[in-house]
Formats: sequence, C-alpha cells, structure tokens
Amino acid sequence: MYDYDLLVVGSANADLVIGVERRPGAGETVLGSDLAVHPGGKGANQAAAAARLGARTALLARVGDDDHGRLLLESQRSAGVDTVGVLVGEVPTGVALITVDPSGDNSIVVSPGANGRLTPQDVRAAVSLFHASRVVSVQLEIPLETVVEVVRNLAPESRFVLNPSPPRPLPREVLDACDPLVVNEHEARVLLGGSLVSEEPEDWARILRAKGPRSVVVTLGAEGALVASAEGVSRVPSVKVDAVDTTGAGDAFTAALAWKLGTGTDLAGAAAYAARVGAAAVTKAGAQASYPTAAEVDAL
Ligand code: ATP
Repeated sequence: MYDYDLLVVGSANADLVIGVERRPGAGETVLGSDLAVHPGGKGANQAAAAARLGARTALLARVGDDDHGRLLLESQRSAGVDTVGVLVGEVPTGVALITVDPSGDNSIVVSPGANGRLTPQDVRAAVSLFHASRVVSVQLEIPLETVVEVVRNLAPESRFVLNPSPPRPLPREVLDACDPLVVNEHEARVLLGGSLVSEEPEDWARILRAKGPRSVVVTLGAEGALVASAEGVSRVPSVKVDAVDTTGAGDAFTAALAWKLGTGTDLAGAAAYAARVGAAAVTKAGAQASYPTAAEVDAL
C-alpha cells in the first residue's frame, strides 16, 4: 500500500573537513591537511542509513545547483534513496566547515544555505510523498515552521519520528505528534529547559513524555538507550564494540528505529535493532561511509 517505508524531511550538507595540529584561535591562521568533502547533514544521513539497511526511503530536502548539491544527490542515489523530493535551487547547498585536531576535538561552522530555504510551501507541494510513506522522520536543521507544516500534512495512519537536533523549544503541536521523540542527553537538557532535574535518564524520558510525545527514546552512546511509552520505561542493552568514530551514530540509530517501527516492530524491539545499527556505525570512520547493511547488522 505504501511506496516508501520511510520519508525523511531534513538537511543535506557537504561536510568540508581539514585536519589540523591545533585549531586556530581568534585572528589566527593555521595550516592543515588536504581538504576532504563528505556528504552529511542529518536528513541526508538518516535517509542514507535507512536505505542501506534496505528500507524503501525518500528524502525531502533542498540543495543548491552546485558541486556540493550534485555530490549529495549522487551519494543519496548510490545508497538507494529516492531523490524525487530533493529540490534544487539557486541558494548554495548547506556546508559544515570542520577542523579536527589529533585528539578528535573539532570546531564547526555551519552555513545552512539551501536547508534554510526548505519552506512550508515545499512541504505542501510534496503532499503525495507524505501519503505514500509509512513513517516520516524529521530533525531540526530546517526551519521550525517547516517542521510544523510536516506535522500538519502527515497521512492519518503514518507515524512521526523527531530527533530535535540542534535542540530548541518546540510547540505543543509538534511534541504531541512525536511517536517517538528521540533525544540524546544534550537534547534532553535543552527540551527540559536547560537542566536535567535528575541524574536518571529514566526520569528525563518520563518528564519529556509528559510534555506530549506518545513515546520517547533517550540515546546514551556506549550505554545504549532507553524507551518510554504508555507501557512504562525500559532499558535497551548496548552492544559492545570497538568504537572508531561516533560521527553520525545518532542519525543511523534514529533512521533504523523509524524504519523498524514502520514494519510493525514494537518500540523496545525497534530500539534494540537501532542500537545494533548505531554500534555498527561507530566501528567505521565517517558518517554515511560507516552505515551498515542489514547483513552487517545481523553479523554484529
Ligand atoms: P551523534 O550526534 O554523534 O550522531 P548522538 O549523541 O545523537 O550521536 P549516541 O547516543 O551517541 O547519539 O548514539 C546513538 C546510539 O548508537 C546509542 O544509543 C547506541 O545504541 C549506539 N552507540 C553510540 N556509540 C556507541 C558505542 N561507543 N558503542 C556501542 N554503541 C554505541
């Protein structure tokens, strides 16, 4: 009945990465490594992760008519994502300028570019994609008014998954639609008004759920995750791996979770699978380059 298991609405960025001995201070110039350009952005990452797992996936996003936009379209297609919803316009593709030092600490400047121009009108024009998708997954690297319009255009039976990253206060209309809201510790803190109130992630999940979402998932890095729904709160076991690079693990987790929920798996089961996908993603360098196939997840 549905053409897509998952529709991702979100950002697509080119990540421009330079390795440096020391990140520059104000007014300073330092020399770095050769430039590496990778496809990124939370929307494009989630879509690539889901498609690599075998989900029938579409992306609604905006890129510029430039080399970065073409890189993103090509990487989405090679992951198996349907790019019918990727709009190409005059505003440059979003970029993240990243300097990373030998300890792995980085400094990042993001130019949202075309991501900031994904409008409520773009959402309305793509209504057929919403009716063709079992699950719709969104993050916050696009305008909040566009996220609100997504919620208003959901098909009656489809499910809405939100990772509020970068975090900001959300209107009740958006919170009420989340099933689940997926947060890490930082995102939980911002949504709880700047303080976590308690040391216990179980409490964060309970308090966040009282703000409207039907369910909440808290990701805890190497500690795994926990889920909260009307049935209560439960821990999802972590998977022990040798972590190489955690970049994009959260996006892979959320994409896998959203896909599995759409196949009818319950929240705890979907989160357990997503934790295996997140663990697999940290065993390789990069974001999209680290995303596993379903066979690789099964072999973990
Ligand atoms: P990022 O912003 O780096 O993409 P995040 O903070 O949104 O990540 P995390 O909680 O770090 O999300 O990771 C998402 C999930 O991936 C975790 O809930 C866990 O299941 C898995 N994961 C992450 N890091 C590890 C690790 N070192 N070992 C095993 N699993 C991990």
